[in-house]
Amino acid sequence: MGESVIPLVDQRVASSVPRIPQLLAAPDGLLADTLGRPLHDLRISVTDRCNFRCSYCMPKEVFDKTYQFLPQPSLLSFEEITRLARLFVPHGVHKLRLTGGEPLLRKGLETLIAMLAELRTPAGNPLDITLTTNGSLLERKAAALKSAGLKRVTVSLDALDDGIFRAMNDVDFPVSDVLRGIEAAQRAGLAPIKINMVVKRGTNDHEIVPLARHVRERFGTGVVLRFIEFMDVGATNGWRMDAVLPSADVVQRLGEAFPLEPMDATAPGETAQRWRYVDGGGEIGVISSVTQAFCRDCNRARLSTEGKLFLCLFASRGHDLRALLRGDASDAQISAVIGDIWGGRNDRYSELRSGQQADPGSGERRVEMHYIGG
Ligand code: SAM
Ligand code: SF4
Ligand code: SF4
Repeated sequence: MGESVIPLVDQRVASSVPRIPQLLAAPDGLLADTLGRPLHDLRISVTDRCNFRCSYCMPKEVFDKTYQFLPQPSLLSFEEITRLARLFVPHGVHKLRLTGGEPLLRKGLETLIAMLAELRTPAGNPLDITLTTNGSLLERKAAALKSAGLKRVTVSLDALDDGIFRAMNDVDFPVSDVLRGIEAAQRAGLAPIKINMVVKRGTNDHEIVPLARHVRERFGTGVVLRFIEFMDVGATNGWRMDAVLPSADVVQRLGEAFPLEPMDATAPGETAQRWRYVDGGGEIGVISSVTQAFCRDCNRARLSTEGKLFLCLFASRGHDLRALLRGDASDAQISAVIGDIWGGRNDRYSELRSGQQADPGSGERRVEMHYIGG
């Protein structure tokens, strides 16, 4: 155990001479990949470390005391992250999501948020900056995050029952602390708040209705609960199809307790299908990554903790942008490489998986979720 699960660097990029690429353009004139998908959303993993050991993400047996996380000098600095984010913006990125690992474990994260909050879109607007967290440190940090410029937050919460929650985070962390973190985020004005529940059949699927009831009663319409199908990310989480509860079943079970009606999508590339309670009690979302692939609209790029650019959650390889940052490449050169990489993107893993290919990947070991960010 303790083996570091780090992908190879794509030498094509590390050694490429930056050039102005021939690119497809989306209808709005912005960059598009080979399937015509624009780049809109950049997810930035700020640490590969986490204080939880959710079995579907960082199982204890693999991520044990001997596991070698990235050494500090490997991590992109706040300046490097901000420079890259600035270079992504003209290519269409309007939304930044900080993730990990557990992003609130990265020291001084508020400083990074304040730096990112200075960036502007070509139209002069601030970027939409958000964060995904396990909520364990949120009670302490919510107000400072908001003051630094964070707009909203997504909190992962897999059960309302304390015993089930402690078992799922596998470090005996109490659910009450996360619930207090969500309240603190609400008080701080981080809105809208989303809560993500990964549903594993036989583990926490009986928590769907109790959690939904709790969110309705305690947090009201300002908090959107979303149910995510357990995904086959990485190579260590022991994924099995029979542990996936299809979103259609989630909607059916919820609808029996609280009648639901479908809502329209608000933005292209939105991963969640939205439903609202007929009684006006708010909305929920389901993310059907396994049973209903949404690759066709996937407009996300992911920047790993050490500066590799991944074009798909299920990729095996990233493109090493840190080598360019630390190799004195100019802004124009890095920007051209980013455009080149996105312009060549053809990833659609989930779609191919639904097409019955056993493993539509390259056969190489897939990158782990805590490293690339969810
Ligand atoms: N530590 C933070 C957290 O848990 O919110 C941020 C990183 S975590 C990797 C991001 C999101 O990925 C979380 O909402 C988590 O539940 C989700 N996730 C991790 N592994 C998953 C899996 N195998 N299937 C579905 N979602 C997963
Ligand atoms: Fe940590 Fe988030 Fe992964 Fe759970 S899902 S182990 S909280 S990174
Ligand atoms: Fe996007 Fe890859 Fe997920 Fe498809 S499988 S939606 S391309 S991240």
